[in-house]
Amino acid sequence: MRAELHTHTLLSDGELLPIELARRAVVKGTKYLAFTDHVSLSNLERVVAEGRRDAELAEEWGMKVLAGVEVTHVPVRRIDEVVLKARRLGAELVVVHGETLSEPVEKGTNMAAVLNPEVDILAHPGLITLEEAQLARDNGVALEITSRSSHCKANGHVARMAQQAGAPMVVNTDAHGPGDLISRDFARRVARGAGLTEAEAARMFRNAEEIVRKKTTTGAAGGRSRKRG
Ligand SMILES: [Zn+2]
Ligand SMILES: [Zn+2]
Repeated sequence: MRAELHTHTLLSDGELLPIELARRAVVKGTKYLAFTDHVSLSNLERVVAEGRRDAELAEEWGMKVLAGVEVTHVPVRRIDEVVLKARRLGAELVVVHGETLSEPVEKGTNMAAVLNPEVDILAHPGLITLEEAQLARDNGVALEITSRSSHCKANGHVARMAQQAGAPMVVNTDAHGPGDLISRDFARRVARGAGLTEAEAARMFRNAEEIVRKKTTTGAAGGRSRKRG
């Protein structure tokens, strides 16, 4: 059983409907899931509204599903505005697409994300600095260790900065298709591969579950209306 808090569906550039991704994930042992499709001002309303419908539906299978977003390639000076708008529209988890080594993400994106306490996870932050990791700790922004091949090149560095700063970490897949979903054991091995101990890997799983629990007891997800017979 694990929590997967970074995935993509047909609502952006993933392969599956949100509900099919949820089905594939639950069969793979994922108990807590977040849809986090790429968003900017262009598609924010649609992604949040449509994601919420399948998130609610998927909970029929006994999983907890958050309708989130991944704020992606937004100009640094406008990131806070898009994060705030996502929250106001009811986004249940906010991920920011960090400065991965494999894409020309604008410099300053990591800093904007770790300075904003409304951000839950800074995804694949590449060559994050110690100062940024310390701000992530202070503002409760989790730093991501990723199993995605294009983004995992800096995992060891991210893990070291997070360790030194005492910042929380999570392991995510950034899944764009069913083949990207992983088991808890594989997630544990990704964490070990980043240089983390068994205890730290276990801590990361707890961090992810804690993020979901926090959202469902106090956050937007708790207020989601469910129509049940
Ligand atoms: Zn993508
Ligand atoms: Zn992503």
